[in-house]
Amino acid sequence: MTEIVGLGYLGLYAEKLDDWRTYGTEVLGLQNVSEKIGVESDTVLLRADEQSWRFAIHQGETGGAAYIGWEVANRRALDDLGDRLSAAGVTVEEDQACAQERRVEGLIRCVDPDGHRLEFFYGPHIPKYPFVSPRGVRFVTGDLGLGHVFFFVTDLDAAKEFYLGSLGFRLSDTIEFHGRKVHFLHVNPRHHSLAFVQNEELAPALGHFMLEVDDIDDVGRTLDEVDSRGVTLTETLGRHTNDRAISFFMKNPSGSEVEYGYDGRLVDDTTWRVTNYDATSLWGHHRDRPDTDSES
Ligand code: FE
Repeated sequence: MTEIVGLGYLGLYAEKLDDWRTYGTEVLGLQNVSEKIGVESDTVLLRADEQSWRFAIHQGETGGAAYIGWEVANRRALDDLGDRLSAAGVTVEEDQACAQERRVEGLIRCVDPDGHRLEFFYGPHIPKYPFVSPRGVRFVTGDLGLGHVFFFVTDLDAAKEFYLGSLGFRLSDTIEFHGRKVHFLHVNPRHHSLAFVQNEELAPALGHFMLEVDDIDDVGRTLDEVDSRGVTLTETLGRHTNDRAISFFMKNPSGSEVEYGYDGRLVDDTTWRVTNYDATSLWGHHRDRPDTDSES
């Protein structure tokens, strides 16, 4: 039960695509490949590594995630996952037209307990032209997949049953604070590719997604861009207790947040033990807004 090997891609909605064209490239350091790939003007495609794209921003009402793409190794893994989801009573559909649009070989889709559209795919397209970050940034992806996503969920038990039970994610650890327990799940050595916490006021929603870079100075340089461009910083620089990443949080033009970080911890499943922390951060990660929970 280990079909999913990593976070593959993320689809987001935004009202102002031009904001993403600037933010995605000049702040995050992603490469805008919309013209290269030749998509319609209502979509922005951003690249982070050798894969043809990792983020798709679609014209639409800001908020939430349009879809989340989880990668599996091959056709057999995709079929096995589809069979297991069907057996668990989840409605799964194969969608070849969507696979073509996402530039992958095969794709099935379903929705999670909060209605988020999930896509499972194998065979992402790798073009021969190189990834060139406009800011000279190198993202930590590869076998670790594309960073992580963090969701506010309406029903913690339902989320646990779906992601840990049906999908086969593995629990890394939990952080308990303000009476809530944040769950951190992995599918490869990256400490977590998915995290969620029940929050009735904010759910269902994508809280943030995380991008990891391979140089602490690129976290600092990005922080300088955030500062000079007036991007809203939502959590100051800090180091998380559990995945040990040094990161900061900022708003993105889709209304959710981006965690930009470095030095995330790796999990070895043969020796890993689940633990429970009582704080999200060893230091830093200060959040100005007192009405909002801190996240990891
Ligand atoms: Fe995070």
